Amino acid sequence: MSKTRDNDRLGFVREQLAELKDEGLYANIRSLGSAQEAWLEIEGRRVLNFCSNNYLGLANHPRLVARAKQAMDDFGVGPAAVRTIAGTMDLHRDLEERLAQFKGVEAAILFQSGFSANLAVIPALVGKQDAIVSDALNHASIIDGIRLTKSDRYIYEHTDMDDLRVKLEEAAGNDYRAILVVTDGVFSMDGDIAPLDEITELAEAFGAITMVDDAHGEGVLGHGGRGIVDHFDLHGRVDIEVGTLSKAFGVVGGYVAGNGAIVEWLRQRGRPFLFSSATTVPDTAACLAAVDLLEESTELVDGLWDNARYFQAGMRDLGFDTGKTQTPITPVMLGEAPLAQKFSQRLFEEGVFGTAIGYPTVPLGLARIRVMISAAHEEDDLDFGLETFEDVGRELGVI
Ligand code: PMP
Repeated sequence: MSKTRDNDRLGFVREQLAELKDEGLYANIRSLGSAQEAWLEIEGRRVLNFCSNNYLGLANHPRLVARAKQAMDDFGVGPAAVRTIAGTMDLHRDLEERLAQFKGVEAAILFQSGFSANLAVIPALVGKQDAIVSDALNHASIIDGIRLTKSDRYIYEHTDMDDLRVKLEEAAGNDYRAILVVTDGVFSMDGDIAPLDEITELAEAFGAITMVDDAHGEGVLGHGGRGIVDHFDLHGRVDIEVGTLSKAFGVVGGYVAGNGAIVEWLRQRGRPFLFSSATTVPDTAACLAAVDLLEESTELVDGLWDNARYFQAGMRDLGFDTGKTQTPITPVMLGEAPLAQKFSQRLFEEGVFGTAIGYPTVPLGLARIRVMISAAHEEDDLDFGLETFEDVGRELGVI
């Protein structure tokens, strides 16, 4: 095929890329030259890490690293098959049991990621005879999981319980086999917490199934980081909790925890479980060490919250708008995407790594720097972060 013809065929892709750049929406992806820690080496520069979801500092924790190495000596590296054929190792079953115990639920099933856990559970559970009632700001992986079903969709305004009731009434007026209510637990871009107590009550009143994506809640909310269900003391009342092992747990992977029949059904009909291989040996073993650490002590979770309170109070005192966060996620609201990108670039030049987040991850006009606080930060680190935000904020006329 001639070069000219190839250019024509793919011209629309190049146009789309050029548009992103013109609109300041092109993601500038930096790569790290060091392990995930409070400080990182990026492009030869040492910068304070304000971006990772490494809430508890486990991504390079010696206990996780040692456990992964030991497991590789014993079991090799790869699972070499999908779970249902020959890819289920004792490690996977151990981790599923430990996660179920940690969360206080009947059972748990592992997936390759939180994203694939959402893609697995929603279409396996509901189909064309059913309805899904979903928060307007739910995570992309929930949205894509919903798209994989032929269920009717009812979208309620973000955390608006009056609207949830209206949508449930509408759905209940039709003759569905099942109604699934699904929400993020902690909304990852704003850091606000879903009112899961009220959602559960409403769902119960309408006989609906409840599902929460606890990706940013576990390791953060509840006793010792047991998550949003523990935070609201809803044990036994939420049918499905989706979790990720890539954030507070510091590794990679996802899981569905909750009702035993649903978990058993996913082992039979969860497509990412049936048709894609599982987490590797070192991933799985490192996650087992993460559960050990979380069960032994609440120290890391407590440290995370101390750091979050300290930093957020400092930012508000400086005059920054940190939105409506109720968790260690700290959005610094800047408005237009080009300003957020400029802010991020200046922070980086001054030694702070804080990525700009714009459309489509957040709505147009609500671009921000999202600061992710970690238990791995020392008070000096947070002070350096505050000083740098102050300098750049004044320079760019934000404060
Ligand atoms: N759900 C939510 C709410 C998330 O924020 C994320 C990660 N961005 C995921 C699911 C996906 O998790 P993972 O990285 O394990 O695929």
